[in-house]
Amino acid sequence: MSARPGAAGATRTCPHCKTEILESASICPSCRHYLRFDSAPAEVAKAAATTTALQVEGTIRHPSGGGAWEYSVVLVIRDDLGNEVKRQVVGVGAMHAGEERTFSLAVEVMPTSDMRRAPKRGGTRH
Ligand SMILES: [Zn+2]
Repeated sequence: MSARPGAAGATRTCPHCKTEILESASICPSCRHYLRFDSAPAEVAKAAATTTALQVEGTIRHPSGGGAWEYSVVLVIRDDLGNEVKRQVVGVGAMHAGEERTFSLAVEVMPTSDMRRAPKRGGTRH
């Protein structure tokens, strides 16, 4: 599901960290490098209109007894029909006795001027 350049959802590769990011991004959400230095009014307005639509954070603490735990952080994105759009192992690691890790997920949304409707698909789930 790749959007053409200029359309909502179009992507490119960050020249700094090689992460796939939105074509419209002016700051890479992964490495936080600036990608554009022209601060045109439209870009500034867009940055101001960005909102965090979902934010979840949780901390896991290893009890002080027993052996270390290994962990996998798995991120899954599904569309409105429940189909997996993306499944990615974001990180793996180990927690030793008494250690803790905090995991944060943020979904930022940015309005665009792309007014096309999603193609009709069979069966609405309401
Ligand atoms: Zn980057």
